[in-house]
This record gives sequence, C-alpha cells and structure tokens, in this order.
Amino acid sequence: MRKGQVRFCYECKDFPCARLKAIDERYRSRYRMSVIDNLELIRRSGIDALLAKEREMWSCKCGGLISCHNGICFACGLEELKKRKTWNMNRW
Ligand SMILES: [Zn+2]
Repeated sequence: MRKGQVRFCYECKDFPCARLKAIDERYRSRYRMSVIDNLELIRRSGIDALLAKEREMWSCKCGGLISCHNGICFACGLEELKKRKTWNMNRW
C-alpha cells in the first residue's frame, strides 16, 4: 500500500480487499448501498457521476434529505420517525 498516495480504494492492487468486502456486505444489507459499486462508478465515470446518483437517490419528493439509516426524510418524515420505538436501521 502506498501511504497517502491512494485517493480511492480502486487504485490499490488489492481492490476490493477482504476488509472492503466486509464493509460492503454490511452496507448492502443495512443501508442498501454498495461502497464497491460506488467506487466502480467513480472509476468508470468520475466523482461527479457518483454525486449526481447519490443526490437523486437520497432526495425526497419534498426536497428534503432522506436518511440512509432508515429511509425517512428529515424534512417531512419526522412524525414517522417519532412513532418508532427504536432507531431501526434494518427495516425500511
Ligand atoms: Zn420529504
């Protein structure tokens, strides 16, 4: 590994390493996102493409921001959030 010289994981010869795969698995199951897919998109199309995709994915129709942890919009979904007894990240 080149210390301080790797900007994105895909620049590493070990990409995707076991550690990143473990993180990816957790994010896929809990948050419906893949860090590996995101890195592949950056490599293929650039960081702006990823940001555009993420902006689309996490924008509510009200214009607010949707939490990746529970799928609830911070602007229009607060009442829904208050109804929940626990901060459940696995079901949304
Ligand atoms: Zn909203």
